[in-house]
Amino acid sequence: AKNCGKNNAKLYSSSLTMQIMSHVKLEVGLRKALRNNELFLLYQPQIDVPSAEIVGVEALVRWRHPERGLVSPTEFIPLAEETGLIVPIGEWVLRTACKQAREWQRQTHRAVRMAVNLSAKQFKDENLSQIVISALQETGLEPRLLELELTEGTLMDDAKATLATLEQLRRIGVYLSIDDFGTGYSSMNYLKRFDVRALKIDRSFICGLPQDSENAAITRAIIAMAHGLKMVVVAEGVETDEQLVLLQQYGCDLVQGYHLGHPVSAESIMQQLVGEAVD
Ligand code: C2E
Ligand code: CA
Ligand code: CA
Ligand code: CA
Repeated sequence: AKNCGKNNAKLYSSSLTMQIMSHVKLEVGLRKALRNNELFLLYQPQIDVPSAEIVGVEALVRWRHPERGLVSPTEFIPLAEETGLIVPIGEWVLRTACKQAREWQRQTHRAVRMAVNLSAKQFKDENLSQIVISALQETGLEPRLLELELTEGTLMDDAKATLATLEQLRRIGVYLSIDDFGTGYSSMNYLKRFDVRALKIDRSFICGLPQDSENAAITRAIIAMAHGLKMVVVAEGVETDEQLVLLQQYGCDLVQGYHLGHPVSAESIMQQLVGEAVD
């Protein structure tokens, strides 16, 4: 498990370079990024284990910096959160992702669920439900085909406000999932109170499988708990066939990771959907 958590950093500008750039300069760049169409989305397939079909995708934002090339979201999302730019960027991501999901549906007659990451700041934005409603209305995507990924930290922050926001989202009819499950707050109490469709097991638990017996125990426990709560489980960061086989044995519902497919362009997803030729 020595490579656990290792990122594909070589594809991106070094974080040292990013640190050398002043915050302000990067912020100006990020502001322009949206205007200048430097942001784009890739989509990573989520595969249904029993049928081996693509049933959803996760939208992952990318920034092609004019001088620096591809900048990792792990670098610019925190800055976007700090500066509040995550709100307009997140709105763009949501709209673009909904539009794309609707487009695939039109062209392939496949209902592919679109998962979109939502940062804490977006979740706290008082306009969130309005933004979600208009993204759905303008693109014609059914609410049940949109899933918002939240982290445990986002949900645990302010119980009263969180419940109110979740109630608004529930009424719209979108689904929620908990991202990076097992890495944040350990209180399980909120799982009873919140209407959550899916838990996404963080890839740090999947990574050492099948050898790491502790991670195996945690993974099995999360799957058992989720099923007991009538939730779906997604394993993130599945990189090997051995991991896939084990997760299948454990009864994991959905898998996502390089073994099943890297984040790719909309066209590539489209070809995969057509290639599966179900319906
Ligand atoms: P995340 O939501 O946990 O997304 C999964 C990350 O794991 C993605 O990194 C994905 O490319 C990577 N990944 C997928 N399969 C594998 C695998 O098999 N092995 C390994 N080692 N990695 C895998 P990415 O695209 O660099 O995104 C990093 C993080 O940036 C995301 O983590 C998410 O927290 C954030 N992010 C990305 N797009 C958005 C967005 O549109 N909005 C917000 N708020 N955050 C975003
Ligand atoms: Ca995610
Ligand atoms: Ca995750
Ligand atoms: Ca993460």
